[in-house]
Order: sequence, then structure tokens, then C-alpha cells
Amino acid sequence: MDDLIDLSSGQVVEALPEAAIKALSDAVASDRVTAYAPMAGEARLRTAVAGHYARRTGADADPAHVTVTAGARHGLFCVATAVARDAEVLVPRPHWSHYPEMLRLAGACPVFVPGAPDAGLLVHPGLLEAARTPRTKAVIVNSPVNPTGSGYGPQELTALRDWARHRDVRLIIDDIYWAYGGDESGGVRPGRHEIVVGGASKVHALAGARIGWVWADPALTATLRGIVEHTTGPVSTLAQAAAAAVVEDDEAVPERSRRMSDQRAHAIRELTRVPLLRVLRPRGGIYLCLDASRLAAARPEWRDDRLLCADLESAAGVKVRAGSTFGLPGYLRLCVAVPPERLSEAARRMAKFVRATDRSG
Ligand code: PLP
Repeated sequence: MDDLIDLSSGQVVEALPEAAIKALSDAVASDRVTAYAPMAGEARLRTAVAGHYARRTGADADPAHVTVTAGARHGLFCVATAVARDAEVLVPRPHWSHYPEMLRLAGACPVFVPGAPDAGLLVHPGLLEAARTPRTKAVIVNSPVNPTGSGYGPQELTALRDWARHRDVRLIIDDIYWAYGGDESGGVRPGRHEIVVGGASKVHALAGARIGWVWADPALTATLRGIVEHTTGPVSTLAQAAAAAVVEDDEAVPERSRRMSDQRAHAIRELTRVPLLRVLRPRGGIYLCLDASRLAAARPEWRDDRLLCADLESAAGVKVRAGSTFGLPGYLRLCVAVPPERLSEAARRMAKFVRATDRSG
């Protein structure tokens, strides 16, 4: 169908801010762009990232403990390689679609831990403990969660932290969506049992630059820099210049976060009106999940949520992701970071699609 409404990916697309444009053109005009960046990352970016964590958490964040990676995805891969090769990593389910394969490629074994249905599908120490074995080295904690938008509050995070410390398991905090409604805790605290992976893609709207980072203890930092050296090598100087500018000048973040919150509320209102689909209420994030079980009851072949997505795309021109990609079969995931009028139009099309099914079924 022409005029597809694509809600399937998770991007926050905006015009590049002046500060980033200037940083890029300064970098282009300098000799820095013809040279390799330092292996750990440009000092300006690592200082900006450390400054961000110091402001946000009150911790004494040292740029020497920050390593720049080619996106948070690469940061997560480096961490998994460093701490969990030949070992198990607990992965709360539902989860970001890339964790399982990323962990396997890093030589680790993902062990899925289904989240509690009465707690927003989040995990708690009892669930982690039941899944732990002598081979468990880490657990990945993402908040707000991609795909559900559930989030760990201060008490829940403290409980996970205590559990990890007492079992000598590392918390790998995937902090990529921190500003979108999941950070009432005051955030993260790296140390031997906590590793923070962040990036510029979502909160700073700079996905194309492919900049991420890891904030970790000194020993792990040394290992991570070795992994960066032998995989991507130093990250692009141009991309780091743009990222440093947006992380230093983070005044845009609260405004972006407010806008996302409005878009999320709008999406919930609109999609709640679609018959036979139930909105899973998010706490934050840039996505929404819809329970499609009643719709699948009307058309049994749609118990395969991938088929439902394909039919929704071809018949209604709305592209969303199948929940099974995220360990949440029977659900649909969509991104709310789109103009509200597009979201309203998507909801109208989905309602029409569902009504047509209901009549024919
Ligand atoms: N972690 C989660 C939960 C994500 O959803 C994503 C991107 O969608 C990433 C990490 C990767 O971010 P980056 O673009 O920095 O690689």
C-alpha cells in the first residue's frame, strides 16, 4: 500500500542542533578527522558523558572509566564478551530483540527469565534466583523496557542491585532510554557489580552517528578498550564530535522527554479505541505493546503474530513489529515517536482493519 505508516522501528528523528553542526564542521576543518581517534574515545566526549552521569546521579564519574563504542549495541556486545564468555546471562523477558543473538555471538548463553505478569512483566530477585546457576555471570536490566515501556523504580532497582552483589553477578544496565520516564531512581552506580551502557541514539536523537559508551570499573574498562581495539577500532572522530556537543549541551533532553510523554499519552488514547486490541500501559519509553489475543481468537492464523503484522501492513498500511521478536508472542509493538497525526491515522486504519475482520469472521 502507498503511504505506509511505519511504526516498526525506534528512532527519534529531529533536525541536528546548531551545536552539533558546529562541532561537525569544526572537526571537518581540523586535522583530527584524518587521524584515528584515541582507542578509549575522544577526551571531549568521555568528559561530557562523565559530566552527564555526575549531574544525573551525584556520583563521582571519571572520564577515565568511560569507553566510547560504535553505538550502545556495540557497547553491550563488548561487555558481554568481557564478562560472560562461556557463561550464562539472565535476560528478563520480554526483551530487546537483539539481546539473544548478541549474547550468543559474544560466546555467552542467554537464559530467559519471564517477567511477572502482575508487575508489568518485570523481574525481581526471586525470579532471577530461580533461574541462576553456577554459570550465571550477569543479568541485563533495561529500563524503561523495550518493548513494554515498563520500568524499574528505585526500590526495585535496589533489590536487583543487592541480589547481584550478594551472588557475585553483574548487572548490565542498558540505560539507552533513561530520560523517557524510567529514571526516578536517580539512576545507576557503576562498580564491580554494575556496568552502565548508554548512547546518543535515543535520548539525544543521534542514532545515525552510532555513538555509545560504557561506564565501568577500571579493570573492566581496560578489558573493554582491548575489545574495542580489536573489533571496530577507534570510533569515528566526526561522530564523536557531534555526540560530544549534544551530550554537553543536554538542555534539549527535558523538552524531548516531555514531547515523548505527550506522544505516548496520545498513542494510548488513540489505540485504546481500537477494538479487540488491548494497550499494555507503559511507564515510559518510546514504544507501546498491544495484546492481540482477542483479535487472534477471531482469526486463528493470527496466533502467529508475524502473519498478523504482515496482513496489517498489506491490508491497512500500518507496519508494526511482532511481539514474538521480543519474547512476547501474541502482542504487537509499535513506536510512539512519530507525529501525533500519523499515530491517529494509524489507529484509524487499525480500527477499520479489525472491524473488517470481525465482520468477516
Ligand atoms: N538497547 C536497547 C534496549 C535498544 O532498544 C537499542 C536500540 O533500539 C539499543 C540498545 C541500541 O542503541 P544504539 O543505537 O546506540 O546501538
